[in-house]
Amino acid sequence: MGRAFVYVILGGGVAAGYAALEFTRKGVSSGELCIISQESVAPYERPALSKGFLLPEDPARLPSFHTCVGANEERLTPKWYKEHGIELVLGTRVKSADVRRKTLLTATGETISYKFLIIATGARALKLEEFGVSGSDAENVCYLRDLADATRLVSVMQSSAGGNAIVIGGGYIGMECAASLVINKINATMVFPEAQCMARLFTPKIAGHYEDYYISKGVQFVKGTVLSSFEFNSEGKVTGVNLRDGSQLAADMVVVGIGIRPNTSLFEGQLTLEKGGIKVNGHMQSSNSSVYAVGDVACFPVKLFGETRRLEHVDSARKSARHAVAAIMEPSKTLEFDYLPFFYSRVFSLSWQFYGDNAGEAIHFGDFSGTTFGAYWVSKGHLVGSFLEGGTKEQYEALAKATRLKPPVDDLTELERQGLSFALTL
Ligand code: FAD
Repeated sequence: MGRAFVYVILGGGVAAGYAALEFTRKGVSSGELCIISQESVAPYERPALSKGFLLPEDPARLPSFHTCVGANEERLTPKWYKEHGIELVLGTRVKSADVRRKTLLTATGETISYKFLIIATGARALKLEEFGVSGSDAENVCYLRDLADATRLVSVMQSSAGGNAIVIGGGYIGMECAASLVINKINATMVFPEAQCMARLFTPKIAGHYEDYYISKGVQFVKGTVLSSFEFNSEGKVTGVNLRDGSQLAADMVVVGIGIRPNTSLFEGQLTLEKGGIKVNGHMQSSNSSVYAVGDVACFPVKLFGETRRLEHVDSARKSARHAVAAIMEPSKTLEFDYLPFFYSRVFSLSWQFYGDNAGEAIHFGDFSGTTFGAYWVSKGHLVGSFLEGGTKEQYEALAKATRLKPPVDDLTELERQGLSFALTL
C-alpha cells in the first residue's frame, strides 16, 4: 500500500511545526503536505519538557505548548492540521528511505512518496551504554528527549520525593533537570568530567556564578569524574552510582544528559553528511535536490562565520525550517539562509541568552555578584559572540544586533569598561 504527497516532512518535532505553519502561509493546498512522526502527538515546543513540564505545581501539559507558541505564533493543535488539510501520520517510524525513488517506508509497512522531502528527524539522546556503562533500562534511570521521556521523568520524580537524584552530565539538560529536581524537593548531585558546568559555552567565570547559585539552592557538584557503574537492588532498580574516582553516591533516581546524536542513519550512503549532520546549502537543500534538511540534523553554512555548523537549538530549528519551506515554495525569491546563532536557557529565576560564537577571547562585564552580567567574545579583532544573564528585551536585542554587525574591537580594556553600553550605543 502507498500514498503520495507533494511535500513530506519526516519527523514531527519543533522544525516540523514551524515548517507546517510556513507551508500554509505560502499557500500549500489541502492534501499536499504530510508529516510523519514517531511521536504520538502533534509537533510541540521541545524546550518545555525540561522547564514548565517538570514543575510540581501547575505544570505545562499539551495542548498548551504545541508549536508555534514558543515564537508567539499560532498554536497548531491536531485540529489546525486537519482544517488545513495537512496529513499527520503520528506514532509511525520511518524505517527506510530511498531518495532515488523518492519514497519512505514506514514501520507499519506503508510506502509514502514525495516530490519534496524535508528531513526534520532531530537527534537522539546518547546512551550510557555508548560509553561502556550498562543500566539505562533500569526503571529509575531517566533520559530526556521526548514527551514519553518527560512523562516518565515526572513519574520517577514523584516516587523519589525527598530522596537523592544523581544527574549525569553538566550541559543544559543536566543543568535544567537539576534545577527542576530541587524545585521538586529532591536532592540533586551533578556529576560531570569537566572542571565546570556548561563547558562548551560558559567561561569559568560565568560557570562559577551559576554553580554558586545552584549550590545556594542545595545542588551539589562532583566534577572531574565520570560514572563507571551502577549499584542495583534485587528488583533491578539503581540504588547508587560508582564513580571513576572511586567514590560512591546513593541514588533514588538518575537523570542522564550526556549529549545527542543527529538522526541521520536513514540517509547514510544516500546524502552527503558533514559534522555528523546532513550537509545542506544556503537553501537547506541537501546533495539530492528534492531533499532538504532542517533543525538539529542539518549542517548548514553560517554566513556570519564563513563555515558550516550543525546547531542543536530551538531557534535554529524554527528558522531553518521556515527557510527551507520558502526555498521550496518560492525558490527565486529566497536568498541564502543568513542565521545568527542564538541559544538560551532558563533555570530557577535565572535566564540567559547567547548570540554568535564563543571563539577567541572572552571579555566579561557587569556585576557578577548581582543579577545582570555578561561577556563578549572577540576573535581576530572583531566581536563575534555575546552572552547576557538577566537582561531586558532591549538589551538582548542590542546584543543580537551588535553580534551580527561583528564590529571591530581594538581595545579590550575599553570594551570591558563599556560593557553592555558598547552594544547599546552601536
Ligand atoms: P526534534 O524537535 O527533536 O524533532 C525530531 C522529530 O523527528 C521527533 O518527533 C522524532 O520522534 C522524529 N523522528 C526521528 N526519527 C524518525 C523516524 N525515523 N521516523 C519518524 N519520526 C522520526 N534549545 C534551546 O535553544 N533552548 C532550550 O532551552 C532548549 N531546551 C531543550 C530542552 C529539552 C528537554 C530538549 C530535548 C531540547 C531542548 N532544546 C533547547 C533543543 C531544541 O529542542 C532542539 O534544538 C529542537 O527540538 C530541534 O528541533 P528538530 O525539529 O530538529 O528536532
